[in-house]
Amino acid sequence: MMNWFYTQPVNILFETGGSKNLDAQLEKYAAAASGAPGGGFKKGILICDPIFEQNGLSKKIKEYAGSRLSETYSQITPNPLVKEVDACADIIRKGNFDFALAVGGGSAMDLAKAACALAPYENMSVRQFHSGGKVFEKQGIPLIAVPTTAGTGSEVTCVSVLSDPETGSKVPISNPNLYPKLVIVDPEVTVSVPPSVTASTGLDVLSHALEGFWSRNHQPICDALALHSAKIVFDYLLPAFDNGNNLLAREKMCEASIIAGLTFGLPKTAASHAVSYPLTSIYRIPHGEACAFTLDSLCGINSYAENGRLNTFAKELGFRDAFEMGDRIAQIKKYTKMRCTLSDIGLKEEDLPGFVQKCHHPNMLNNPVELDDNMLMRLFLSKK
Ligand code: NAD
Repeated sequence: MMNWFYTQPVNILFETGGSKNLDAQLEKYAAAASGAPGGGFKKGILICDPIFEQNGLSKKIKEYAGSRLSETYSQITPNPLVKEVDACADIIRKGNFDFALAVGGGSAMDLAKAACALAPYENMSVRQFHSGGKVFEKQGIPLIAVPTTAGTGSEVTCVSVLSDPETGSKVPISNPNLYPKLVIVDPEVTVSVPPSVTASTGLDVLSHALEGFWSRNHQPICDALALHSAKIVFDYLLPAFDNGNNLLAREKMCEASIIAGLTFGLPKTAASHAVSYPLTSIYRIPHGEACAFTLDSLCGINSYAENGRLNTFAKELGFRDAFEMGDRIAQIKKYTKMRCTLSDIGLKEEDLPGFVQKCHHPNMLNNPVELDDNMLMRLFLSKK
């Protein structure tokens, strides 16, 4: 017998070119949210990746939003820092903003989610919620997200992944108050993503689809979403990588990204994500590439769980079995020039025992096959 629960509180609008209609969308959404036409969403802050200050997108977004966005916060590093969240929340508080619009990949969205939730807490650092055990109980200011990478799915999750150099940790905060209120997916804004980021973020999408499927907490709605999103990645990631201006490929990858976000949001991710956190914090490997490092091998390992349900999944995607699916992922990684070996990463064999100890994030317990230190060592040594 299998019991399950599914919920998804984020409103999703998928519209190619949709970011150009921000003013009307905010008006419509504000009316729906407040019950009164035009209620709220008048005084907003744009929280965006710094690249958009350089390429002019943030200026355009402000124009598209009418006069609703009066300030910009863009001091955001990839893998955002707790101190950046604190600075942004402080600006939100001082400016008395009634909403925020996040434009960026997972880094900008995660920073915005945490800053909006932290805004009602005067004189507090997000560190207290990140490593201090405090929980967001107050309602933050509403957040609208426009994802600019087809990758993290952060726009539909209640998670914000932050890094704290003081504690040396990169870990997620999870809380229902972190859900954005509305997501506007506009594939046009992903056209400028460079090939290496297209590959890394696209492999993140695949990690979400597969890990949501093989998670110990898998459930039928998410399984169906996993199949849909994984198929799109196998069909469209390389076309998007080869030609960033291929709008169909960008649209399909955006579709895969948001659907894969819905796939893992409830079941949560597993071993490939657990391993990715130290790969990113110690060896500076971008998130999706870090997840992909073990994803191919995990296809084979996880094919032994639960009567081989991963083999059935792989067959539905046209592979002979999960091992062949893993081989295809390895080929995609190679083709897109992702780091595939320990030496590519700079991870020395003698450092492996210590590194393996750092891979035991709670997500590891969500892997369908239990991975102890010996198995992790074998997995990494297979990548010599
Ligand atoms: P990112 O947001 O760090 O962006 C990667 C690079 O791409 C940056 O240099 C950025 O400037 C650039 N970029 C982004 N959009 C662009 C565009 N349209 N054109 C040109 N350049 C663009 O990368 P990401 O993979 O989207 O996000 C990674 C972060 O998200 C990590 O911190 C990861 O841990 C987190 N994450 C969060 C969740 C969640 O549920 N909250 C899930 C997965 C990952």
